[in-house]
Amino acid sequence: MSVEQLSLSGRKKVVSNKEMTFIEKMYLWAIIKGLLTTIKHLFRRKVTIKYPEEVRAFSPVYRGQHMLMRDDEGRERCTACGLCALSCPAEAITMKAAERKPEEKHLYREEKYAEIYEINMLRCIFCGLCEEACPKEAIYLTKSKKIVKADYDREDFIYGKDKLVMPLEMAIQNTVTNTIN
Ligand code: SF4
Ligand code: SF4
Repeated sequence: MSVEQLSLSGRKKVVSNKEMTFIEKMYLWAIIKGLLTTIKHLFRRKVTIKYPEEVRAFSPVYRGQHMLMRDDEGRERCTACGLCALSCPAEAITMKAAERKPEEKHLYREEKYAEIYEINMLRCIFCGLCEEACPKEAIYLTKSKKIVKADYDREDFIYGKDKLVMPLEMAIQNTVTNTIN
């Protein structure tokens, strides 16, 4: 067997440069073949959906936007230990720790808290490692279908505590529900 005939994939075709006939030059057969392909797809299940009217079912392991959790008394759980930032492969988390003052005991659960806590959503890959690393169950990737909104400025993708901390009403609601259950 010559080198020209060798085909590792078994799909090698020898290209012919022979002159096309008049019928071939009209591309009639090619057009019919194309139309048949189109008609075939008319009777198949559509893979596209009419978003936003239709929304696909989310995966059971879907991870949405992060939330910094509060405890049953509405206090922030985070103790600014930095383990989430250390475990983040995208280096998306930054924070600044502060000492809790005696009059702030109702705001922060631990003696140290995150005065500043920021996640760069342009870096985040929603891997969930920050959630895994946290010893205080203080950060969760929600399943709330909350998606980071599109924006024009890069600064707007750096989410601070104003966007990340669990709303107080939600913490109260969770406590009430747990009490009832
Ligand atoms: S989800 Fe992953 S990439 Fe995003 S902040 Fe957490 S550890 Fe970093
Ligand atoms: S979210 Fe958890 S891991 Fe990250 S700094 Fe706060 S307590 Fe530490």
